[in-house]
Amino acid sequence: MEHTIHRLTVTMAFQGVEETIYPTVLQYGKSTVLVDCGWIGALPNVERELKEIGLSVQELTALVLTHQDHDHMGAAAALRRANPDIKIYASPAEEPFISGREKPLRLRQAEEMQETLPPEMQEFGRAFCELLRRVEPVAVDRLLQDGDRMDWCGGCRVVATPGHTPGHTSLLLEDESLVITGDAMALENGLPVTANPQFALDREAAEASLEMLLALKARAYYCYHGGVYLPS
Ligand SMILES: [Zn+2]
Repeated sequence: MEHTIHRLTVTMAFQGVEETIYPTVLQYGKSTVLVDCGWIGALPNVERELKEIGLSVQELTALVLTHQDHDHMGAAAALRRANPDIKIYASPAEEPFISGREKPLRLRQAEEMQETLPPEMQEFGRAFCELLRRVEPVAVDRLLQDGDRMDWCGGCRVVATPGHTPGHTSLLLEDESLVITGDAMALENGLPVTANPQFALDREAAEASLEMLLALKARAYYCYHGGVYLPS
């Protein structure tokens, strides 16, 4: 069956600094899957990008959340209000934090770091904690286990990539030999790196996950931060 993979470019400013993320849309038969959805308040930006490729939020059938971070799930609750039928997928290890049953690990980390920040960083740290507290939890409908195979785009394998967060998940589109990395891989100056290594909840595991993704020898890696990595 015909399938299409789109990369959205979503930009928002935070305290005067513009940031860009690249959520992915998988279209296959009746399924239209969005992988990660951006920050709190990003829904109008996501809608605008979807419109560019002839889609609406109401046409999305599923949302995959690679992990619990605010720049990946911040708009999820608003998205579900706009499309109550959407099915939300995440790994079992991320689900408690996404659904709000447990305090998000990034918020815990930020609150702990706040105590050791130098005076000139205190205000930034406080604003960041406040931002994380504003993330609305959202119920997860389906759990994604490592090795699960979805029929999206002719075969989509769930690949556990722990480290950045404990249940971080990437997707391998087998037909296309394309990996949607989430934050298991970011691009910096054209090179694959772990995203924000200083904030990885388990830095060694994050490095191992990056190596594992590279060892898949995929044709292309769609990084949420930084763009597309094409190994030569
Ligand atoms: Zn991120």
